[in-house]
Amino acid sequence: MTAKLSPPASPTRRHFFRKVWRQRLMCGVLALVTAVSVMASSPVKVAQAFPWQQLLFQGLQVIQLSNISDRQEVALGEQMHQNLLSRGTQLERGADVNRYVTDIGRRLLESGGQRRIPYRLFVVRNPQVNAYATAGGHVYFTTGLIRAASNEAELASVVGHEIGHIEERHLIKQIRQAALAQGVASAAGLNRNQVASLGIDLLINRPQSRSDEFEADAVGLRLLRSANYARSGMTGFMQKLLQAGSRTPTFLSTHPATADRLAALDREIRNGPGNACDVNPDPRSCGLDVAYHQQMTRGI
Ligand SMILES: [Zn+2]
Repeated sequence: MTAKLSPPASPTRRHFFRKVWRQRLMCGVLALVTAVSVMASSPVKVAQAFPWQQLLFQGLQVIQLSNISDRQEVALGEQMHQNLLSRGTQLERGADVNRYVTDIGRRLLESGGQRRIPYRLFVVRNPQVNAYATAGGHVYFTTGLIRAASNEAELASVVGHEIGHIEERHLIKQIRQAALAQGVASAAGLNRNQVASLGIDLLINRPQSRSDEFEADAVGLRLLRSANYARSGMTGFMQKLLQAGSRTPTFLSTHPATADRLAALDREIRNGPGNACDVNPDPRSCGLDVAYHQQMTRGI
């Protein structure tokens, strides 16, 4: 089961899409002009070239990683999702826990003025303590991580952090760097299949960069504050994972620099703007109600 959190349509959004389609039309026209000029200047090669339809079709499928649209990003996230499922990722179908995670995501997103893309939050059946974000609003939380959290605020801190990775398009930036390093990115762009497999390889094999982690933490903490969750949920959960000793959670290896991040978060919580939970930490509304968290996650 998944949570689909769709943004409302707006005149600005319609204007944006009209603009995007105008730009795409221009790109198509330019591609056509380029193809025509290639045909005119090298007739021998043209005989071996792709048919027109295929050439144009490929032109529409390729993704320019440096200038990917929200719409392309959502389609890419969906393709990576299918790729994860085909590699054996198992989704937890329990209604309570999925609704719980969805509600946390909605509360954070509605408070924070995020980019207007639909979010899909998934619960993955896996005892490892981990969470990851791909692209286009696709975010994953393992049942191990949800169980490791003591309360809603701790879980919300991870949801907020992963939203930060999506908002800042961290995986897409990593894919772009990897494609350039491997020499596979061409001026024409990559097709979506290539980008999706590269993304999954990075997700599995490479930890997030230090700077990406600090950036995602800053977004997560801001969301916790604006959604009126206790911000101590973020530092409390990270401290707990650090103290896990020999059973180092996967979350820490995929999300490095935890001690430095904790220090930065502590500084921001002490010196930055706060919220109502600093004054009156009501257990239920601030996400500190342990019994409620246990009730919502009982089935996993
Ligand atoms: Zn992270």
